[in-house]
Amino acid sequence: MSEKTSAGRSEISTLGEFGLIDRIRKEFSLNNPSSKLGIGDDAAVIESGNEIILLSKDIFIEGIHFDLGYMPLQHLGYKVIATNVSDIAAMNGKPTQVVIGIALSNRFSVEAVDTIYHGIKMACENYKVDLVGGDTTSSPFGLVISVSIVGTAANEKISYRSGAKENDIICVTGDLGGAYMGLQILEREKEVFKTNPSMQPDLEKYEYVVGRQLKPDARMDIIYELSEAGVVPTSMIDISDGLASELLHLSKSSGVGMKVFEDKIPIDNQTFETAMEFNLDPITCALNGGEDYELLFTVRQSDLEKIKKHPDIHFIGHVHSNPLQNVMVSKAGTVVPIKAQGWDHFASDVQ
Ligand code: ADP
Ligand code: MG
Repeated sequence: MSEKTSAGRSEISTLGEFGLIDRIRKEFSLNNPSSKLGIGDDAAVIESGNEIILLSKDIFIEGIHFDLGYMPLQHLGYKVIATNVSDIAAMNGKPTQVVIGIALSNRFSVEAVDTIYHGIKMACENYKVDLVGGDTTSSPFGLVISVSIVGTAANEKISYRSGAKENDIICVTGDLGGAYMGLQILEREKEVFKTNPSMQPDLEKYEYVVGRQLKPDARMDIIYELSEAGVVPTSMIDISDGLASELLHLSKSSGVGMKVFEDKIPIDNQTFETAMEFNLDPITCALNGGEDYELLFTVRQSDLEKIKKHPDIHFIGHVHSNPLQNVMVSKAGTVVPIKAQGWDHFASDVQ
């Protein structure tokens, strides 16, 4: 039950984002036979004749998801597509179409819109996605972009969050925590600029982490490579909210437990150094920092050989039978429970 204030209304922050989604989900059932999977995975699964359609949506609100003080409009355009493609990748699918809703305040010029759409076009070309429609309207303040994406997958190749089995190997692509550290740098430079506008930010030293925040790419390359290797992950999710949160999603959906090893979790040197500079524990940034858009997936032990030599897939642990035990074995050998902090846009400090 959610907490009620004296006026009898419940604050959304008492439920959080996932609690709210659960509450909505409970009220709706799937009635069309073509609706194979509804709320609860990275994309919905819809049957259309012999084909499977994947459908997903993400909204981006100025001031919540991006700050135009440091996010160039072209990068924003690219990012809203890349993050949606990432959800299709997380189903082991291929993206095909997007529709885009955009709401603009009068602060934005035609040229600004051109720049956003230039970024959108670059991403559409890169991921081979067609922009097929959308909606345009005004906004009382700021910029809102909402993207819906469609993709396809062969029925037997879809990777759900729910398919992880005991003894599967837990895999993660790329490296983690970088996007979060990039955000810390950009926020810091913004504060410096506010107090002294003549200061030019020196971002060269932080190029990689800042790039991870401003120019994320969906790991479609991995999806194609897994397909070539003949590997279908038993479960998969993209890392948008941090490794810890996504591990718990796989655990909950699959009814199994996750055991990972701290020394196996991939962290780039620059992420590590920047975290130290901010007096943050790099592993905490990898576990709880958001927006890396890497893939977290599980494979059968018998498939390990086929991807063992892949330079950008890391094997960080294994699946066991107890869904209540999600743990990380630290470098010192202690076993610590995995807790999700993640990104909660309804946290009580957000109005
Ligand atoms: P992701 O981070 O992969 O984009 P989310 O955490 O946003 O996924 O959403 C989890 C699941 O809940 C998805 O299946 C999504 O479609 C569904 N969902 C999110 N918000 C809503 C909503 N307002 N109404 C119905 N379903 C929702
Ligand atoms: Mg996702």
